[in-house]
Amino acid sequence: MKPKLSELLSASFEFEDYSPLHTKVLLLNAMLFITAVLTLLFTVIHLFITQSYDLLFIDLSVFLSLSYTLYILRARNDHQRAAYIGNAVLFTAILAITLLHHGENYTLIWTFFFAPFSIVTLGASRGLIVSFTFMLMVLAVTYTGVGEWQEGAWNTQSYLRFLIAHFLMLYVIFVIQNSNERANGKIDRMRRYEKKQLKFFEQLSITDPLTSLYNRRFLKEIFPRQLFSAKRNDKLFAFFILDLDYFKQYNDTYGHQKGDWAIEQTANILKEHLRRSSDYSFRLGGEEFAAILFGDDIDCIHDRINAILQAVADQKIEHKSSDVKPVLTCSIGACIMEDDSEYDLEDFYSLADEALYRAKDNGRDQIIYAHQNI
Ligand code: GH3
Ligand code: MG
Ligand code: MG
Repeated sequence: MKPKLSELLSASFEFEDYSPLHTKVLLLNAMLFITAVLTLLFTVIHLFITQSYDLLFIDLSVFLSLSYTLYILRARNDHQRAAYIGNAVLFTAILAITLLHHGENYTLIWTFFFAPFSIVTLGASRGLIVSFTFMLMVLAVTYTGVGEWQEGAWNTQSYLRFLIAHFLMLYVIFVIQNSNERANGKIDRMRRYEKKQLKFFEQLSITDPLTSLYNRRFLKEIFPRQLFSAKRNDKLFAFFILDLDYFKQYNDTYGHQKGDWAIEQTANILKEHLRRSSDYSFRLGGEEFAAILFGDDIDCIHDRINAILQAVADQKIEHKSSDVKPVLTCSIGACIMEDDSEYDLEDFYSLADEALYRAKDNGRDQIIYAHQNI
C-alpha cells in the first residue's frame, strides 16, 4: 500500500480492500510528508528571513530525519518503525525549540501539533501516553519561564491558559482517535465474520449434506477446469458414474435409514480412493455417484476405478435381495479421453451413463467403458 505523494496532501487514497491498517499507514504517510514539507519551508524562512541559525539547525535535522523516516515507510514498508522514529524526532525537536526560544515568536504554538501527530500515528492508547509525557515536559519547561519569558508577558495567567488548552486538546484528539479505532475494529471484525460466513455458504452450496461429497452443481463448475488441466498437463482424463446395484431392494429389505448408511459407506470409499489433487468425487443424487480422475495411461486409470468397484463389494454389506451377490455391489460406466477430444460435460455424461446402462444390463458389479477398445 503506497499512496502517491500527490494523494498525501488530502490523505485520500482509493483502497482496493479496506483495512484499519491502511488508514493508519495513509495518515502516517500524510503526516510525515506534510511535516517534512513544513520543516523545509521553515528552513528557508530561518535561513533567509529571520537568520535564526539555532532554529535552522533544528529544522534541517528534522527535515533529514523525517525524509529518512518516509524512506523507511515507503521503501521498506515498515510503518511501525517509521511511526516510532517520527515521534521521537518531533518529540525532541519541539522540546528543543521550546527550551531554546523561550516562547519567542510564537514558538509554543508548535507544541500543540505533537499530540495529533502522536495519537494518530501511534494509535490512541500509546499516543496518549507519549503525548501526555511530552505535554508534562513542555509544561515543566514553560513553568520555569513564568514571569521571565517574553519580558514578563509569559505570566501565570498565560501559563494556565496554555495548560488548560493543552489538556483539552489532548482529550479531544484522544476521544476522536479512540472512537475511530473502536469503530474500525468493529467493522474489521464484522467483515472477517462476513467473509467466513460467505465461505461457509459457498462450501454448503457445493456439498452434498449426507455424504459431504461435492454435488452436481460443483461437477458443472469444476468439470471444464479439470478437462483443461488434463490437456495442459498431458494426462488422460477419466469420468465415471457409479450406481449401487439393486438398491431399491436394499431399501425395501433393510429400511431407508440403513440405505442412507450404505450410501455414506460408498461415499467413504470414493473419498479414500480419490485423494490426489486432481481427483474429484461427487454424489449426483440418490445412490448415484460420479468422479473425475487423471492418469498417465489407460491401465493405471482402470486399476484405480477397479479398486473402487472391488472395495464396495469388499465392505461385505449384507444384501440378501441382490441378484448379483449376497453383498452390496455397484456398477460403473466410465469414459476416458485423450487430450484431442472436443467433448464437454454433457458428452462425457451421456457416454458414461450409456456405459453404466450396459454394465447393468450385462449383469452388474462391473465396469464398462464408453469406447469398446478400452
Ligand atoms: P439398479 O441395480 O438397476 O441400479 O437397481 P436400483 O434398485 O438401484 O435402481 P435405481 O438405481 O434406479 O434405484 C434408485 C433407488 O435408490 C430408489 C430409492 O429407493 C433409492 N434411493 C434414492 N435416493 C436415496 C437416498 O437418499 N437414500 C436412500 N436410502 N435410498 C435412496
Ligand atoms: Mg441403482
Ligand atoms: Mg440409481
